[in-house]
Amino acid sequence: MGLGAGFIAVEAADVTESHRLARVRRDFVANVSHELKTPIGALQLLAEALLDATEPAGDDAPHLSEDLVAARRFAERIQHESTRLGRLVQELLELTRLQGAEPQPPPEPVAVDWVIAEVVDRTRTTASARRVEVLVEGERGLTVYGSDTQLATAVANLVENAINYSGEDTTVRITSRADDEYVQISVADQGIGIAPTDVDRIFERFYRADQARSRSTGGTGLGLAIVKHIASNHGGRVEVSSTLGGGSTFTLWLPARPPDDLLATLPSAEIEAGPAELRQV
Ligand code: ADP
Repeated sequence: MGLGAGFIAVEAADVTESHRLARVRRDFVANVSHELKTPIGALQLLAEALLDATEPAGDDAPHLSEDLVAARRFAERIQHESTRLGRLVQELLELTRLQGAEPQPPPEPVAVDWVIAEVVDRTRTTASARRVEVLVEGERGLTVYGSDTQLATAVANLVENAINYSGEDTTVRITSRADDEYVQISVADQGIGIAPTDVDRIFERFYRADQARSRSTGGTGLGLAIVKHIASNHGGRVEVSSTLGGGSTFTLWLPARPPDDLLATLPSAEIEAGPAELRQV
């Protein structure tokens, strides 16, 4: 039934309770994760101590008892699993922070070249271990606005995935470009790709299209959820295009202009530095 002329419909919903519950849940995850950090760290150190204590000295190596060999194998597993657990807890903490457990740091101008160089540096070892070449292409000298560490984490997660879900002797391309509104950083791989049925769900926490592979690469299932939150906290978004067996391209879209509050605090020299910002003055 339509409203008669001169009437306005107002619908109000009390969301106090659902906001309170969301906060309780977030704080609970943050607290548990924080509490788990210490015992996990202790497990890692104990496993390391066990490996050191059972290290064969020089000529002993061929004569190690079966028990000692088994003990070393178990210690290695404990080390591997506790490292994985440590990463999971750290990413859970990171996600709860991004979901609003902590306020966003004030936005700062961030050089996209710096973000990409940092990510290439961080992923160098994994890339060379898996014989994947990481190439950087596109426009240089672009600026985005926000937190440099969060942006580096987001792009690093995309590049790590690109490497992990690709075969040997393939190439990962990081490309930056910009239009008036957005800076785009895309990460394209020639890897296994993602089925259309999975594509819509991979940004959910713990959703994995390829369980076995994700576990073997030490994946936590939280990487893309973190990327999505970082993108939206920066006023941007993340998109994916992929074909099963034909590689994937993830693109991070970030506003090319500073948020208004940053604009007010930037020294005028910085505002005049880029054409996009100039239009704002
Ligand atoms: P994980 O730690 O499992 O990699 P993510 O949240 O980073 O978790 O990714 C979720 C899932 O999306 C992965 O388990 C994988 O199935 C899929 N995925 C992510 N990136 C890629 C990629 N570049 N190529 C193919 N599949 C991918």
